Amino acid sequence: MCTSKCNRASAESKCSREMPIPSGEKGVDKVRDKVGDKDHHTQSSDAPLRGDLDNIRIVLVGTLYGGNVGSACRAMSNMGIRHLRLVAPDAALDWAEAEKMAVHADDVLAARETFATLGEAVADCVAVVGTTARRGLYRQHALTPRETAAAVAPLAATGPVAIVFGREDCGLHNEEVACCTHLVQIPTAAYASLNLAQAVMVMVYELFLAAGSFEPVREKSPPAPAALKARMIGIWRDYLGEIGFMEPAMADHMMAAMSRIFSRGALTEDDVRILMGVVRQSRWAVANGERS
Ligand code: SAH
Repeated sequence: MCTSKCNRASAESKCSREMPIPSGEKGVDKVRDKVGDKDHHTQSSDAPLRGDLDNIRIVLVGTLYGGNVGSACRAMSNMGIRHLRLVAPDAALDWAEAEKMAVHADDVLAARETFATLGEAVADCVAVVGTTARRGLYRQHALTPRETAAAVAPLAATGPVAIVFGREDCGLHNEEVACCTHLVQIPTAAYASLNLAQAVMVMVYELFLAAGSFEPVREKSPPAPAALKARMIGIWRDYLGEIGFMEPAMADHMMAAMSRIFSRGALTEDDVRILMGVVRQSRWAVANGERS
């Protein structure tokens, strides 16, 4: 039975208090509990998976709401994580809502595997990470998502790693927490309980970063060397004098200010050439009175 915090009778009836400790058996086929053929799906996407993210299993325990399952699929897909495992989802879960919220992650939803107990769902996993909004007995050693991602990234290189999320109304039971090798709490202000799918997003985001999957867009133009910047300042100095922007007696002072402005950001070679081009084009326009 769930604790008194559970407020849905249907969820209670699903709550299994028997938590077999992962047996270490290889291959989920041995332990998978098919909840009807229709509910068992195999992975359908051919999209390439990056690094060890392919070894991450997102495990949702006793989920009540289809929208959360769908939104979790979307978050997973955003972060290149494709393997969803459901443990005894609520019988009344709205699958149409799940499909609606999954949006382009319908392949993740369709490829889900369903198990009767958490023990079965994580039997093949080398690490089992429980997520909890609560501190308390058995939950005091929780890490942050970032610390957790760093800790499990090397483990995911060796085998499947489960990230386990609890029920919307009462989280994970103590017996389920006892099944976990790691615990993680997402830091929050006073109100600690995130929406389930948002908690999934925070975790998969950190796992994605820890897997080194993100390559930021880099500036193609190299930083401008000092000589090129000095040439540009000289060109601006001449031109600002020519157009009467500054008196010759004020030129040193003004150009020191201009240099300060230009050095506020790291100028690339392309930036400097653009700033020289502005002067060149301005001179041409003044001399010719029209655009080139
Ligand atoms: N009322 C429940 C919280 C349920 S929220 C409780 O007291 O435990 C549903 C699930 O989202 C949680 O079981 C957990 O897996 C995840 N979650 C929500 N907030 C979280 C947080 N701050 N840190 C880690 N996981 C969180």
